[in-house]
Amino acid sequence: MKQLVLASGNAGKLKELSALLAPLGIEVLPQSAFNVSEAEEPHPSFVENALAKARHAARATGLPALADDSGLCVDALGGAPGVLSARFAGEPKSDARNNALLLERLAGETRRGARFYCALVLVRHADDPQPLIACGEWRGEILDAARGQGGFGYDPLFLIPDLEQTAAQVPAELKNVLSHRASAFRQLLEKLQAEADLS
Ligand code: IMP
Repeated sequence: MKQLVLASGNAGKLKELSALLAPLGIEVLPQSAFNVSEAEEPHPSFVENALAKARHAARATGLPALADDSGLCVDALGGAPGVLSARFAGEPKSDARNNALLLERLAGETRRGARFYCALVLVRHADDPQPLIACGEWRGEILDAARGQGGFGYDPLFLIPDLEQTAAQVPAELKNVLSHRASAFRQLLEKLQAEADLS
């Protein structure tokens, strides 16, 4: 595998993944370069949606494809907002309204445990029966008020108990090591490396 298409329009993800995969001799191309239409994401789990996006991009381009799906799962809410994280408070998507709704749903709740979750899926071709799947988690607790200016999404409400800081307060370099995405990336890299060792 020398080239793969990233099933995302996010320039930050493209840059991050390109750097990660360059040492393996893999070039990451954006799906925008192939005019891939937006994939449906109708599934209740991150891994199913990432798989659907990866298959869609592989089918449209004829290349191996990598997709990710991530979000916040709150214990006391049965894992919500889950795959609906980006649009928890409806359209248009808004981090501020999502965070306000999360606080509203957790008002009076003493169970504050939550995790960020990231699924990364790579298919060698559209009908690949053995996709490479890597999932990462980041455990924390939901505060009852926002703290910190950094990050995005639910970061200001997500406390990392060991650090006594929210994901919006820790330096970006540290978040990039600790996060659900970082953990999934590391696992995917190991799996790709293992494949390279076999070939
Ligand atoms: P995406 O599908 O990876 O773009 O993420 C979906 C949504 O999950 C985002 O819009 C955020 O609301 C939430 N999310 C995912 N990762 C993070 C994170 O690292 N910090 C805060 N929110 C996140």
